[in-house]
Amino acid sequence: MSADVLVQLGIKGEEAILKLTKEALDKAIKEKGVSQAVGFPETNYYLPLINAFFKMEVKTLGDCANVIKEVEKLHNNQAAANGFKLDFLGGVLNKGIATLICEEILACLQYFNKAHPQKEYAGFLSDTLLRSLGIQLVDGRISGIAVILGPAKNEDAAVQLVRDFQSKSIVSILVGNAGGNTFKKQLEKKNIELGLENYIVPLGEDYLSAIYAVNWAVRAPLMYGGLKSGQWQEILKYTQNKVPAFVVLLSNVDEVIVATGLGVLAMGFPIITDLDVPQLGKIDTTLYEALVTEKDYQKIAAKCIETRGLKVKVANISVPVPYAAAFEGERVRREQLQVEFGGKASTAFEYLTTKPMQQVEDGKVEVVGPDIDQLKEEEKSLPLAIIVEVAGRKMQNDFEPILERQIHRFVNYAMGLMHVGQRDMNWIRISRDAYHKGFRLKHIGIILQAMLHQEYSAIIDKVQVKLYTKQADVEKLLPQAKKAYDERDERISGMVDENVDTFYSCELCQSFAPNHLCVITPERQGLCGAYSWLDARASHEISPTGANKPILKGKALDEALGQWKNVNDYVYERSNKTIDKMSMYSLVNSPSTSCGCFECILAVIPEVNGVMIVNRDFSGMTPCGMTFTTLAGSVGGGVQTPGFLGVSRLYVLSKKFISADGGLRRLVWMPKELKEYLGERLKKRCIEMGESDLFDKIADETKAQTTEELIAFLEKVKHPVLSMSALI
Ligand code: SF4
Ligand code: ZN
Repeated sequence: MSADVLVQLGIKGEEAILKLTKEALDKAIKEKGVSQAVGFPETNYYLPLINAFFKMEVKTLGDCANVIKEVEKLHNNQAAANGFKLDFLGGVLNKGIATLICEEILACLQYFNKAHPQKEYAGFLSDTLLRSLGIQLVDGRISGIAVILGPAKNEDAAVQLVRDFQSKSIVSILVGNAGGNTFKKQLEKKNIELGLENYIVPLGEDYLSAIYAVNWAVRAPLMYGGLKSGQWQEILKYTQNKVPAFVVLLSNVDEVIVATGLGVLAMGFPIITDLDVPQLGKIDTTLYEALVTEKDYQKIAAKCIETRGLKVKVANISVPVPYAAAFEGERVRREQLQVEFGGKASTAFEYLTTKPMQQVEDGKVEVVGPDIDQLKEEEKSLPLAIIVEVAGRKMQNDFEPILERQIHRFVNYAMGLMHVGQRDMNWIRISRDAYHKGFRLKHIGIILQAMLHQEYSAIIDKVQVKLYTKQADVEKLLPQAKKAYDERDERISGMVDENVDTFYSCELCQSFAPNHLCVITPERQGLCGAYSWLDARASHEISPTGANKPILKGKALDEALGQWKNVNDYVYERSNKTIDKMSMYSLVNSPSTSCGCFECILAVIPEVNGVMIVNRDFSGMTPCGMTFTTLAGSVGGGVQTPGFLGVSRLYVLSKKFISADGGLRRLVWMPKELKEYLGERLKKRCIEMGESDLFDKIADETKAQTTEELIAFLEKVKHPVLSMSALI
């Protein structure tokens, strides 16, 4: 078979799918009429591919029929709506895009017929899911996305492949079947835990479900890249260069899969397969080879990484279990439990402290007391104190809490280990599997030692770890740790913007949102909630050329708004000259920009002169008449949108919370779950500002879902916003 034959197959596949789509659509229109509403759940982008490429907003069956007319043009190699037409490879990629668009319509009809999402499968992936992955993609915790089509040659090969991907921080997306056998079933037979937290997401059992991976990828440029629907050339460039996805085609191929493959190649995603097919070298839309065969399953992951040009961060830690970010979310259930520490089971804590250089012996790990292999069969818990002592010429006490907080992540990366909480509220579980593979307490020390060196070598030179497992020792050591925790909290709460002369930028998200940067101040975290001012400062120390740069505030232009000359200049420069002034403390007057990974959105409700906040996980309606997903459509892409602002959850507790606009007294509504999350801390903040009952005056969805209900509620509780001046 030559590449030509493949193209011929693809052409036939496209014809078949076009015919099928027309028939299915005709049938649906006959039954329900052209004005029947259709669409995918929880997205701002209608049918995302169609919206991105053709700039059409499909809302009804009639709209679908209009799209088909455009697809037919593409089918005949003529420009479709919005001038869409690809000239590469003699136009054959147009057949591929036509196929994808037909598939998007077919999938939408499947939703309409309630045939999708299939049971136990994700189906269409929401905007929120993409947002929640934002930081993991920019910081390298996710290095790539493998769309696996079809089952592996056998169960062991499936496990091998998915474990390889996990240990390289690659998310596996599962689609399709061969004679009813699926990759998902293969993994389940081997007791592999599925789910996004384990980097494995089954989309659907049919091949059509692959479209959900494609129309998810196409939203990245729209949500993060500041691109508008219809800018198809730029959108394709973005998916080709910035979306680290690729396809792994296993066991099975037919003409429709080939046609879909052409579309996938047009978007820049190469295909790696275990099938005997003609190879395709680099084409205009791919970075490297377009289609490669690798039959040896042990080599598939490496081949994928090479072909997509992924940058994979790997930790080489000598412990007897696999170690990678992909294992972070894995739980250790009671049935799998070998031994646990902390939680309700025993006294435990973890504490990282700085010591003079000569008192730390690098690499030393000491276990004081019984190790886990000295427990009796029925004993399931032990007390545990983890004391990490570091030394370094550039180490500062302020970095201790930052390093200590990493213990959570570092321990969780080990397969078969679970870590929850922090400080003296931690809870660690070790699974029976990990234990039988030889995992012992000293390995926790080895992990912490190696990972602290790997990520923080710029500030620390030496690390030693002591693990105490005798109750008396743990109790004796605890007060000293508690004292340190309290001192830290006090120090941090005393840090205010006025007392520092330097803020920090975070430009990590520029790989996805090229014009966006966060300006982080002591009283205002980055909008993703992952970086505080101290984090940014530490990360600048660690890597001066990295994503966090100091900004000397310089002359204040407007203290109330939070504008400084140097900050404005810096923002102008680093936003590619798109933003010339940015207020730290205002939502309406030159507010900050957003990328796409904000934890919450603030929005003005003009009818009440107030402000509402909604967190990413709340899927219900808000009183401004929009859900989080819809609101998110108006924020992001590195532009300023007065009246809307992406923020972190903890920003609500800050004294600088939209202080230029009236502060917390403006806040009239937030979802119950967010209110519960902020709970006591928010109550404390209300008392501190002399509004002890404000907490109860802030409505949630059980009090008000519409503006009318909100107005009635605010009047009933006499919310302070009612007597405040107009916001805009
Ligand atoms: Fe992105 Fe801002 Fe978070 Fe940095 S602080 S990772 S730029 S959202
Ligand atoms: Zn971001």
